This record gives sequence, C-alpha cells and structure tokens, in this order.
Amino acid sequence: PAKVDTYMNSHLMLKGTAPYDILQRIHDNSLERGLDDISVSPAQGKFLALQARLAQAENILEVGTLGAYSTVWFTAASPDTKITSIEIDPHTYSIAQENVSLTESSVSSRINLILGNAIEVLPGLLSEIQSSSRPHFDFIFIDADKQNNLAYFNYAARMAKPGALVIVDNVVRGGLVVDESACQNDGKVIGTRELIEAMKYNERVDDAVVIQTEGEKGYDGFLMVILK
Ligand code: SAM
Repeated sequence: PAKVDTYMNSHLMLKGTAPYDILQRIHDNSLERGLDDISVSPAQGKFLALQARLAQAENILEVGTLGAYSTVWFTAASPDTKITSIEIDPHTYSIAQENVSLTESSVSSRINLILGNAIEVLPGLLSEIQSSSRPHFDFIFIDADKQNNLAYFNYAARMAKPGALVIVDNVVRGGLVVDESACQNDGKVIGTRELIEAMKYNERVDDAVVIQTEGEKGYDGFLMVILK
C-alpha cells in the first residue's frame, strides 16, 4: 500500500492550489521537532481538501491539530476557506504555529489555532456561534482523543449548518473496531463504537458512511456524516 501511495502521489500531487513544498516541509519539521508520525497521509490530506472543496466549505473546524499538516491541507479547498483548529498540548501547538508560519500570508491568515482541551474550548465556540459573533461551521474534522468522539460530534452538530459535512478519522483502527477484546478494553475503540452506534438515533444525522482506508499510514477509515 505504501508503494501504491508513492506511485499515485507522484502523478497526482501536481494540480490544484495545495502548497505541496510547504506541506512536505511541515511534515518533515514536525518529525524533526519530535511529533509522532500520526498526521493524515498526503493522499488523505488531499482527499479531505477535495471533500471540503466539493462541500464548498467556507468555515472549517478541526479538533486535533498536531503539527497543522491536515490544517494546511484544508486551506487548499478554496482561496477563501478559513479553518479553526484546536490542540491540547502546548509544545505541539507551538510547533503547529511554527509550521503555519512557513505558509504564505494568504494561507496563514486563514488559519486560527486555538490552544486548549477541545472539550473545554468547544462550549465557548458554540456560544459565539449562538450569539452570531462567529459563523456556523460547514465542515468539521474530528481527529483527537477518540474517547471523546461522540461528545465532539454532538458539539459539531450544534455548531454546524444544515447540510454540513462531518468527517471523523481513525474509526476502523486496523480492524480493532470489531475485535471482541478491544470492544471491552480499548478506550479508543469504545469511544469510536459509541459514536458509530449513535448515528442511527441522532436526529441531526441525514446520512452517514464509513470508508475503510489502506495506505502508507496503515489500515483505518473515515466516518463521513451529512447533517440535516
Ligand atoms: N489532524 C492532524 C493531522 O492529520 O495532521 C493529526 C491530529 S493527531 C492524530 C491528534 C491530536 O489531537 C494530537 O496532537 C493531540 O495532542 C490532540 N488532542 C488530543 N486530545 C485533545 C483534546 N482533548 N483537545 C484538543 N486536542 C487534543
């Protein structure tokens, strides 16, 4: 799968508005500065940017910044797309800031990084939306502590416009999502299953699907949800 990604990327990472050289520098700088290699892959970053472009996303929320690799990908959706991204770890946040500063001002000016625990930051963002001092989000990417997936999704539903797209990363977990022991003992699997199983009862969910992914980052998958 990694060789296939390399081959495909060598032919397809050419077009569009993504700052490919800077994205590579962000990836390399994140690893040099000691961040875990757990960002989305280049192909997944582009997939997310294309989803945001198709959704004509103007205001994106990301939960889980890491080094802002996916954050910068999202800015390629359109020259006007803005993204707010939340990161809990101060050191990681400072590397994300450093990485964003590598981008041109036309990109960095559209990125708002927030330092804090998402579960504490999201209520504040929600009240800003409710008081009309911040626009609703039309695309939300959830990629942080998996135990809180359902809580983040419930905030997302309250902060999003009708028709908004929510994507949650790592919902397959190498197949552990259906492993009997992991279902009992692995908090990340338990959090993921709570989210998946809540979809059919949630009144804001219009439609949802999980797409399994295989590639240079291994076997995993995205949950994609369209909100009513
Ligand atoms: N979206 C990033 C990318 O693809 O480039 C990868 C994000 S990484 C998988 C998850 C990040 O979420 C980590 O940097 C971690 O510190 C952060 N995180 C974990 N728990 C969090 C929380 N409660 N609030 C905000 N960020 C959190």
